Amino acid sequence: MTSPKKLPRPSLRPTRTRRPDTDMPDVPFSCPCGEIKGTLHGATPTSGNHVRCYCSACRAAVLYTTGVDVEDRGVELYQTTPDKISFEQGQENLAVFSFSPKKLLRYRASCCGAPLFTMLPTPKFALAGVMTDLLADKTAIGPVAMEAFVPQPDGSSKHTSVVRLYGGTMWRALVARITGRWKQTPFFDIATGKPVAEIYVPTPEERARLPL
Ligand SMILES: [Zn+2]
Ligand SMILES: [Zn+2]
Repeated sequence: MTSPKKLPRPSLRPTRTRRPDTDMPDVPFSCPCGEIKGTLHGATPTSGNHVRCYCSACRAAVLYTTGVDVEDRGVELYQTTPDKISFEQGQENLAVFSFSPKKLLRYRASCCGAPLFTMLPTPKFALAGVMTDLLADKTAIGPVAMEAFVPQPDGSSKHTSVVRLYGGTMWRALVARITGRWKQTPFFDIATGKPVAEIYVPTPEERARLPL
């Protein structure tokens, strides 16, 4: 008895439902004075996290760079990976400061002083926060989806939607690490692992005026 002739098996591969990143909206951004211009690629409510952060360091960073105290209103960021950010002009105007050398790096505009991006101190953990006020069109990223360090009546703080806040961020950073996309960053010199500008640490006198 001969075995039946093998029929071609139907493909079990699921049909692709997610559009590639290239189809996702590109949103222009610029610093307030217009010297720095660039594009946030793949800006959607689900390809990044639209966060409002109430932590004292974010409040202090805005006060330090702009002189404006956001008080209890928080600071809005869109968390994505650095490879989704590109510059058309003014990249040389990026300045970097940090309240502590091992803490979050904060990129600001040397032209007009404005806060622009937050970055972890190593490019290997691909996480970038974009100040949403820079975006030409905020509707692409949807409304704030989660809040971080929300002050509680007892003086503590909590995050809303913690799983998405850290889960999505960690996952995207991990994928960027595995695929090598972490090396596509305009914020670091990959050869040295150092930021593109010297990290300035505010002096004790400057810090004393901030709510840190
Ligand atoms: Zn914060
Ligand atoms: Zn500027």
